[in-house]
Amino acid sequence: MNSNLTGTVALVTGASSGIGEATALRLAEEGASVALVARRAGRLDTLAAQIEEAGGTALAVAADITDRAQAEVAVQTAIDRFGRLDVLVNNAGLMLLGPVVGADVDDWERMLAVNVQGLLYMTNAALPHLLKAADDDPRRVADIVNISSIAGRVAWANYGAYNLTKFGVNGFTESLRQEVTQRHVRVGVLEPGGVATELGSHNSGAMRDHIDDFVATTEILEARDIADGIAYMVTRPRHASIAELWVMPTDQA
Ligand code: NDP
Repeated sequence: MNSNLTGTVALVTGASSGIGEATALRLAEEGASVALVARRAGRLDTLAAQIEEAGGTALAVAADITDRAQAEVAVQTAIDRFGRLDVLVNNAGLMLLGPVVGADVDDWERMLAVNVQGLLYMTNAALPHLLKAADDDPRRVADIVNISSIAGRVAWANYGAYNLTKFGVNGFTESLRQEVTQRHVRVGVLEPGGVATELGSHNSGAMRDHIDDFVATTEILEARDIADGIAYMVTRPRHASIAELWVMPTDQA
């Protein structure tokens, strides 16, 4: 028996595009009220309106999660509006590729700030509420889904700092899972292969060519393929926890 999300609240970071947007739509379809977090407020407002028109409930919360105070306010804003938090999807991320030799250290800092620090800030702010929801009806279980990457499992040249962030997300996820799973907060990691989103668009030069070549020669995933996986993870029965889900394009070796 699957549990749907009626009566629950989900918060999705990076909801203004790509995987986060598709996930917010999907969790709203499953019955969750959804808090939409990212920096681009206009996009969040449009998505919130789309969810509401389809009969769902959504709240746009413009925030830069690399700022600890903004991350905390984002969680509190969702709590103030909906009164609880059952599901946190730590999805916001940035992928800036390039060699380590001669690297742009500002790029490293931007990636670490979103992929690692932002995820930590959101998790820290959300955990007390998730622990409370795990003690409460309607599900007596709560969920954190961290969006890592195949780059959290496999390292390649020119992916060094991105690999560092995503291997880190995998390690943190499993550590936190062991810490809170017996309190019925399920903590899982989803590692996508290539997905058609804006993620590669922040690169230029040889790295952009590399990404464009990959996209041209691979039948890459749609964002909703990843949203499906997230929905699967958070709708298992209370006794079943999906600790890891690796979702790949079939023709990505
Ligand atoms: P997108 O670039 O489409 O989405 C990234 C999202 O993160 C945007 O909504 C962006 O919103 C948000 N974001 C970035 N910086 C911040 C910030 N400082 N504060 C709040 N939100 C922020 O890419 P994807 O949908 O592909 O990426 C989602 C996740 O999936 C990432 O963690 C990525 O690493 C991972 N992934 C993606 C793969 C792919 O092939 N696409 C493969 C493997 C993993 P805004 O700019 O409005 O703030």
